[in-house]
This record gives sequence, structure tokens and C-alpha cells, in this order.
Amino acid sequence: MPQSPRPQELREELVARVEMFRRRAALAEAAITELRADCDLDAADAASTRAALTEEHGRAEEARRQLARATAALHRLDEGAFGLCVSCGAAIDPERLLAVPHTRWCVACRRDVEGRPAR
Ligand SMILES: [Zn+2]
Repeated sequence: MPQSPRPQELREELVARVEMFRRRAALAEAAITELRADCDLDAADAASTRAALTEEHGRAEEARRQLARATAALHRLDEGAFGLCVSCGAAIDPERLLAVPHTRWCVACRRDVEGRPAR
């Protein structure tokens, strides 16, 4: 039997993730600002700069999405609802919780909800 992660460990993990995604989003946004400045100065590199901008926008967006999930999981942990399936109320497999802390469903319900195997 895998040992159940203690709430404190999960909390630390989530706080670390929130910090990491916040930093990642900030870095991507800084890169976007820099690329925009370059864009104005150097028209010859405009195409490659645009490609780089698109990439950084995607990175910033993904980081913000992950940040929102980690923040939501942290709130649910504070409310004492973390680790319980929102659908059936069963305790979610601790290993799954550590792998996907923002998850809201147990493996079985996730499959029902999404119609495909859980990650
Ligand atoms: Zn469930």
C-alpha cells in the first residue's frame, strides 16, 4: 500500500508549484516585452521574432493555466475538500494526487467525465 501523502506535504508541493508557474509566467511575459521591443527596432528579423512571440505567448498561457489549477487545488486543500472526488466523494488515490494535484475526480469518475482513461 502506498503511504498516503500528509496534507502538509501536499500543501508544500502545491505552494512550490504555484511559485514555479508564477515565475514561469513572469519569465514568458518578460520575454514577450523584450521581443516586442526588438520587433520595433529590427524589421529584418520580424518573421522570426513573430514566431518567437507566438511561442512565448503559448508558454505564458500554459503557465497561467497551471497556476490557476495549482491555486485552486491549494484553496480546496485549505477548505478540507482536497483529495476527495467531487463526483463520488471517494478518497482519490494518493499517488494520483501527487502526480496531478489539481485533479478533482478519482480515476473511475474521471473516466466517466472525460470518456477516456485518466492521465
Ligand atoms: Zn469518484
